[in-house]
Amino acid sequence: MTQGRPLLNRRLAGFGTTIFAEMSALAVRTGSLNLGQGFPDTDGPDEIREAAVRALRDGRGNQYPPGPGVPELRTAIADHQLRRYGLTHDPDTEVLVTAGATEAIAAAMLALLEPGDEVIALEPYYDSYAACIAMAGGTRVPVTLRPDRDTGTFRLDLGELRAAVTPRTRLILLNTPHNPTGTVLTREELAAVATLACERDLLVVTDEVYEHLVFEGEHIPLASFPGMRERTVSISSAGKTFSFTGWKVGWVTASAPLVSAVRTAKQYLTYVSAGPFQYAIAEALRLPDSYFENFRSDLRRKRDLLGDGLRAAGFEVYRPRGTYFITTDITPFGEKDAYAFCRALPERCGVVAIPNSVFYDDPDAGRSQVRFTFCKKDDVLREAVDRLRGLAS
Ligand code: PMP
Ligand code: GLN
Repeated sequence: MTQGRPLLNRRLAGFGTTIFAEMSALAVRTGSLNLGQGFPDTDGPDEIREAAVRALRDGRGNQYPPGPGVPELRTAIADHQLRRYGLTHDPDTEVLVTAGATEAIAAAMLALLEPGDEVIALEPYYDSYAACIAMAGGTRVPVTLRPDRDTGTFRLDLGELRAAVTPRTRLILLNTPHNPTGTVLTREELAAVATLACERDLLVVTDEVYEHLVFEGEHIPLASFPGMRERTVSISSAGKTFSFTGWKVGWVTASAPLVSAVRTAKQYLTYVSAGPFQYAIAEALRLPDSYFENFRSDLRRKRDLLGDGLRAAGFEVYRPRGTYFITTDITPFGEKDAYAFCRALPERCGVVAIPNSVFYDDPDAGRSQVRFTFCKKDDVLREAVDRLRGLAS
């Protein structure tokens, strides 16, 4: 306290340490297997790592890169959007490189919101959404994805989404493939979101960092729907796709006026970042299709390995169609409180997981949900499952 008031401003009151930092620290402290924070325990392709070393040695990116990102990367991003999704973007005016998707989300909120604007986000939501909306003075309006026990997946209720829009709604912050539930919105669901955004004249910010991690169905960018190109800020990142989460290379693609708005905020956050890594990611985006296919099939196999193991250990398991996370329910163990469960799990069996309950405004909706990641070596997943089997006894 100084001057009789708390040091942390009121917008950030209640935002303590992120759950990922808390649980990773717990894993280190207890020597547990960390199936909590989503980072792979194997680095991405050697040739991409070497491309970064080459850039460092050749003096490419060791000084401030251009504000919007190096031209090689902006062109590679535009080519990727065209090749994969048929979306055209001018690399000079419609692409912006950011310090991971995290900065892109923050810059988009700071650029596009006025205090009091409402932002609809799918709940459970990625933790930075709540903080960024708050920092921008916006108001979060969650729409809850509900577990559907028949299909073993989470579903978006389009009626609830529609009902959440008010005259104060400025934008929808849409994450698909969705962390933590693994939901991949279908073409029909996305079409309905697009229709709603056009009808109510809303912006949409899409978080597509798991675009290459879809095991069932397909990833379709919302920007490709009629009327959406001009009102969508599409965000993605290299971290998950290429298994270099520490490089923090992300990007925005959107119309020139939207990119210009987001860039205005971004330039006063980091200005620029990750110089040499930008060159390496430009090469990564041009890897042959076989890279993306192998990556996906490897992770699909890991999903099944962990999913089967968790089920055998006694968890109720929801089937992720995308991402590298599995949401489970701990009710079969007679447990109700995911946070307490996750804090005790290292002591009980040497495994760390993430309580989904912290990603909800509605304290009851996710109280008994626990998330595990499967972006780990097979041996680690097998060992974790073995240890978790002890829970039932
Ligand atoms: N959005 C979602 C849904 C995520 O899971 C993550 C974590 N990778 C991010 C954004 C942040 O991505 P980055 O590491 O590129 O900042
Ligand atoms: N996206 C990662 C996850 O959901 C964590 C990133 C972070 O620690 N901020 O596990």
